[in-house]
Amino acid sequence: MGTREAAEQVRDGFERLYGTAPGGIWAAPGRVNLIGEYTDFNEGFVMPLALPHTAVAAVSRRDDGVLRLHSADIEGPVVELHVDGLAPLTNTSWAAYPAGVVWVLREAGHAVTGADVHLASTVPTGAGLSSSAALEVVTALALNDLFELGLTGPELARIAQRAENDFVGVPCGIMDQTASACCEEGHALHLDCRDLSIRQVPFDLPAQGLQLLVVDSRVKHALGDGAYAERREGCEEGARQLGVPFLRDLAYEDLDESLARLSDERVRRYVRHVVSDDHRVEQVIALLDAGDVRGIGPLLTAGHVSLRDDLRISCPELDLAVDTANAAGALGARMTGGGFGGSAVVLVETADADTVTKAVQEAFAAAGYTAPRVFPAVPSQGARRLS
Ligand code: ADP
Ligand code: MG
Repeated sequence: MGTREAAEQVRDGFERLYGTAPGGIWAAPGRVNLIGEYTDFNEGFVMPLALPHTAVAAVSRRDDGVLRLHSADIEGPVVELHVDGLAPLTNTSWAAYPAGVVWVLREAGHAVTGADVHLASTVPTGAGLSSSAALEVVTALALNDLFELGLTGPELARIAQRAENDFVGVPCGIMDQTASACCEEGHALHLDCRDLSIRQVPFDLPAQGLQLLVVDSRVKHALGDGAYAERREGCEEGARQLGVPFLRDLAYEDLDESLARLSDERVRRYVRHVVSDDHRVEQVIALLDAGDVRGIGPLLTAGHVSLRDDLRISCPELDLAVDTANAAGALGARMTGGGFGGSAVVLVETADADTVTKAVQEAFAAAGYTAPRVFPAVPSQGARRLS
């Protein structure tokens, strides 16, 4: 379903639910990260792009303190809350994402006095494509417009992140929400997680005859549960032992010297991943700025090897997707996101997309894995008002 069609559906749904036309319709996409993994909390670089898959919300403002939330994708009645009654970590349903945005805005002193929300989303949930950020950002943008808050895209992203961190209780970085709020069509977004500065980097795949395939492995291994905190702790330990505030402060040119000063094999691997992945982001940017999109393929694959062998957050399904895609003629591939399942990205010539897709599907079938979902990630527009 396209975004226009989704907009019509949420408009109709809103009118059926609430008996009036919405004040407007807004969209915010999911994202996939091209390169730069587990670098965000080390104050390094990431490079996401927005997907064509979006959350679309029909929203009206209210001035009586009532907050009514409904998702076309979830069975169940309208969730009715009161803005004064919102409290962090108390709501474990999907409604916590939009409600969290209202709570953060109010905590920040913005007079958000209630809303009616009906939304639907084409972002697959739990595939590492940030369906949650899409929900938060579309809510934040709608409220920004309806209450004339005058907040910028990066500011809305910060609010959406705080909603997820503090209200929902998920310790995510700033990448997902910034990508959803700030990406532009035909570009990847270079985000510096130190000063939160952003730059649009040309990444017009259709114009180059290329596709970036997303392979959703459809698995989520329980092993990943404590892994994020463990990697984070290991990176902080590396920075401490090397006497820098964050791993971002280590120069790639001095990497061997830095590694030689670390006695712990585990910490050494994590430091090597983070410093080399930051460097790969810089190399990818240089290639894209020079118009050499095909040239980034080997860097994607090198990034995967680093995540697999140094950070050790891959899994057999993601390794199979990457290895099979590369053997079938892809220009490069890597797992993307938190790891232990979720998705991989594969850069291919458009002419080879079907062959590579079929090879991955056959390899998964032969291994007895759940059939993966494969689709092209066309670099798309970030959050916007539709009507
Ligand atoms: P993801 O990687 O997709 O962001 P999360 O676990 O962070 O995975 O977020 C998924 C959650 O977001 C879902 O469990 C649900 O609570 C919420 N969500 C996502 N899309 C929708 C939707 N269309 N309607 C209602 N809730 C949604
Ligand atoms: Mg999420």
